[in-house]
Formats: sequence, structure tokens, C-alpha cells
Amino acid sequence: MPTPPVIDKARSKQGNPNLGRYEEVCASFSWSKARGLLDGLPGGGLNIAHEAVDRHAQGTTADKLAIRWLGRNGENRDFTYRQLRELSNRFANALHQLGVAQGERVFVLAGRIPELYVAVLGALKARCVVCPLFSAFGPEPIETRMRIGDAKVLVTTASLYAKKIAGIRGRLPSLKHVLIVPEAEAPPAQEATLDLADLCARASPDYRIEPTDAQDPALLHFTSGTTGKPKGALHVHEAVVAHHVTGRFALDFHPDDIFWCTADPGWVTGTSYGIISPLSNGVTCVVDEADFDAERWYEILEREKVSVWYTAPTAVRMMMKGGVAPVRRRTYPHLRFIASVGEPLNPQAVLWGQEAFDLPIHDNWWQTETGGIMIANYLSMPIKPGSMGRPLPGVEASILKRSAQGGIEVVSEPDVEGELGLRAGWPSMFRAYLNEDERYRKCFADGWYLSGDLARRDADGYFWFIGRADDVIKSSGHLIGPFEVESALMEHPAVAEAGVIGKPDPVAYEVVKAFVALKTGFSASPELQRELLAFVRKRLGTAVAPKEIDFLPTLPKTRSGKIMRRLLKARELGLPEGDTSTLESGT
Ligand code: ATP
Ligand code: MG
Repeated sequence: MPTPPVIDKARSKQGNPNLGRYEEVCASFSWSKARGLLDGLPGGGLNIAHEAVDRHAQGTTADKLAIRWLGRNGENRDFTYRQLRELSNRFANALHQLGVAQGERVFVLAGRIPELYVAVLGALKARCVVCPLFSAFGPEPIETRMRIGDAKVLVTTASLYAKKIAGIRGRLPSLKHVLIVPEAEAPPAQEATLDLADLCARASPDYRIEPTDAQDPALLHFTSGTTGKPKGALHVHEAVVAHHVTGRFALDFHPDDIFWCTADPGWVTGTSYGIISPLSNGVTCVVDEADFDAERWYEILEREKVSVWYTAPTAVRMMMKGGVAPVRRRTYPHLRFIASVGEPLNPQAVLWGQEAFDLPIHDNWWQTETGGIMIANYLSMPIKPGSMGRPLPGVEASILKRSAQGGIEVVSEPDVEGELGLRAGWPSMFRAYLNEDERYRKCFADGWYLSGDLARRDADGYFWFIGRADDVIKSSGHLIGPFEVESALMEHPAVAEAGVIGKPDPVAYEVVKAFVALKTGFSASPELQRELLAFVRKRLGTAVAPKEIDFLPTLPKTRSGKIMRRLLKARELGLPEGDTSTLESGT
């Protein structure tokens, strides 16, 4: 496939990037020096909430805006660092009054409302382990996760309680306290619940964080469930070192930035980069309660003067569907950096950023398990569209092959496909899959963490995503990554999104089959089908191009926006769909 030209930003206006000369920064970097960028607790130790909030809540930054909350219906609420400290102090005190002990698990099931942010930070102060759950989950996935996580406390809203918790409460014997966020049109108060507003109003606004060991558990996140049953990944307070530094390097946080992370805290991105990383860097975060709506998003970017924006490929593809004209009706003089994570970012999408916002989109790669960004395209570095970029300073990434004996071989030549591995030991590395010790152990070999993703590294040190090990297609002796085929399809003007699977075949072992959703204004027809087949064949050659293309109104996705290829495959082959707890409704 012809690769799009490198976007060399060397001559463009870049301000003063935190990561200037990549090689030099990598050579002088160490995680212990990075920890020195943080405060530490007065009595020793490290606590995420202290770094995110308390240390900015004094002196000149105390009255700086920490969070600007945009309500679904147009109301706004602003929280300074000082206010956020007081609110999270009250929540931590409330937990103490209830007798909730260090290490106990606090779950939060709420939309993106201010109480969610306060509860996460307050629970961290109280040294509890906090797990934000995505509010659109149904009762069953909520119950499964709360059981795995052994939830002691749940913070939720009155309506979510009535709809989703009341019916399963009896099956959660370890759940001791349910704290309800009151709502204007709420159902009547439920038995055996407490009013969060009341509790916090009565609690003291002062709180001293008890000594916290950097290795104390802090956060529990469930994976997206793209490849199977979601796993509960446990992270420790030390993760904040990686959250902080990766925010500086990969998102280029500067003190005056207004930052918008569009992810929900129910997914790791929405916590690591929607709460911890920007606050630890002392920037102002925009939080939008509403769901995706292209026009609303453009308005927020313009009106809130967003300068750094972190979003996801699905959202970019949805914006692309509507074309550049709606973007161009507004101006974004403050916007200076756009990044994306969660799925492969097709080269077309990187270029669309340039066309629409005059800014390329910087792809970066990481996982729930890694806790923070591991590979990224940086402000100071040329972008090769379609590449995930280069490892963060302090992160050693390699292409690995597993030997028959179970050992690991590190591939040193460029452009060889293999499993993407990270040298174990970065601070935000997960410390367990809850209740799945064996599975956790299997992720590591010879000092490497094996990601389960396939990639290659080019001669310049850029990493290229091939596909998840589970999704790679074996056809007539070739290994085909779905991403390459999907990106080629995306180059066609009619294609909004594409998902590619291997379909069993008696001769070739598997053949490539593509599912395509069309942009507004195009409709499915046998002619378009033939045209697309020919279009991709010309780009990729017959060995790699799909043999079949089907049209779908939309592709099945996780609620965090990832295409579920395993579901496309199961549906194609008439097999059971497996765990669909994270499936977005209607897909
Ligand atoms: P599960 O592990 O339950 O199947 P998941 O892997 O989708 O779900 P996450 O931890 O949310 O759960 O996602 C991490 C995965 O997302 C990565 O392993 C990778 O496959 C994909 N991913 C994330 N960022 C990128 C990127 N920039 N390019 C390509 N793939 C990406
Ligand atoms: Mg995964």
C-alpha cells in the first residue's frame, strides 16, 4: 500500500515542547528522577490524590480552575483546586466515618458528574481502591464486576440505583454501603442507602492523608472486553509517576493548557488522562457530561478554548462521516495538540485532522494493563501516518518472538512482525488481574510484559500496529493484519468504518472478509461492492485484499468504541457470541 508522506512538523509553530530532542531525553531519563517531579506525602510515601489535587490547592495555584464541568443540558460548574481538595476531603472523611478501611474497594457507577470525580479522588485519599464503572452497563455486567472486585462501597445516583442496583443488591453480600447522589427528579429514597450530599455536608473539609506506600493498590480497571471476558487490572499509587510524566511528554501539558479528554472514567483512559494526569500537571480539565455529538464537540472546542484534546479513533471516524465543512464553520485558535488512543488510527484519520483542524492527530498506544501511554507520536517529532510512534522515555518496547521452549527472543532487525513487548517495571504497570493469578503470570516472560498485540518497528524506531494476536488472519501462508486492510478500505470516499476478519476456507485456511459501514450519502449496492473489492485489490494485491465485502449499517463496538472483530466473526460463522457485556447497544 502506498504510505502517506511523513508529516514533518519541524518548521511548523510548536511552542516549547516538553519533549524536545527525543534521544537526549530518553538517555537522561530515569523513573526515580521522574518521581522527583512529584511532591510525595509530607510524612513520606506517595498518594495519587495528593499529587493530583492537594499539592496544587495551596499557594498561587489554589484558585486555579481544576475542572470545568459541562452539564448535559447546558449548565456549567467550575471547581478550583482548592474546592476540589475540600470536596474530596469531605468524601474521604465520610468513608472513615462509615468505617471503610484502607484497601477496601469503592465502586462508582455514575455518568460524568462532578460527584464521580470527587469520589475517585476522595477514595484515593482514604487509601481505598477505587473502580469507576461505565454507567451504561446493565445490571449483569455491574454485578459481575462488583463481585470480582469485592465491592464494599458503591457511589451511584438515585436513578441508576433504582434501575440497575436495587434488583441485584441482594446478590452482593459484601456491599456494605450505598451512597446515593440525590437527583432533582429522583425516585424516593431507598432503604439501606445513604444520601451522599448529606454525608459530605456533615463531614469535615479538612483531611490529612495517612502514610501511603507507593505500592499500595489504588485503582481497579476492567479491560474493554474486545477479545473476551473483561479482566480486572489492579494498579498502585506509584502509577501517578507514569501518569504525570506521560502527560508531560505525550500530551505536552503546559500550565496554561485547557485539556479535554473525551473518554469516560469507566475506561482507563478516562481516569488516567481524564483525571489523574492532567490534574497532577496542574492543568484545567474540561469534562462534558453528554455523549458524542459532533456539533456539540466543535462548539466545546471553540467556546472552552481547548488547547490539548485527547480522543479516540471511533470519534474521529464519526466526525469524518460528517465531513470537514461543519468543523470549518468555527475557529479554534487555542487548539494546539490533538491525540488519540484506543484503536489503530488509520492514516486517513491523521490526515483528516490536518484538513479539518490544521493539526495532525497524534496516535498513541497503551492498554488497561499498562496504566499509561507507552508509545506515542510527540509534538516535536515527524509523524508517519499509521504509526503509533515511539516508546516513551523510560519505556523499553521491543518486538518479541516466543520460542518453542517458552523463552523470549528479542527481534533486533527492523520491519519484522512479532508480539509487542515492554520491559517490565514501569510504575503504572498492573500488579494483578483480580482472581486470575495464572493469567497474570502468563503475561510475563524473561522480564518482558507481552501485550498480546502484534506490531513491527521500522528502522527509525517507529512502531506500527498489525493487529491483536487473536485477530490476525492466516491466508495461503500469509499473515495479514486487519488494520492494514481496514485502512485501505477507509481510503475510499464511501467508507466510514471497516472491520476485517479471517473466514475459514478449505484451501487458503482463511480468507479475508471485510464488513463496511458507509458514510452519509452513500448506499449499499452490488456495484459499490465490486468497486470496493477492486479498489482494495489494487492497493493491497490479491493475496491480502478481501475476497468478500458485506455492508452493515454500523459495526459492533465495545462501549469504549472498539470494533469487536470477534463478534463479526462469530456472527458470520453462526457461533456463540461469547461475553457481550461491553457491547454498545444497537451494534
Ligand atoms: P480486552 O483486553 O478485554 O480484550 P481491550 O484490549 O480492547 O479489551 P483495552 O485495555 O481498553 O482493552 O485496550 C487496549 C488495546 O487497544 C490494545 O492492546 C490494542 O489492541 C488497542 N489499542 C489501543 N491503542 C491503540 C493504538 N493506538 N493503535 C492500535 N491499537 C490500539
Ligand atoms: Mg486487552
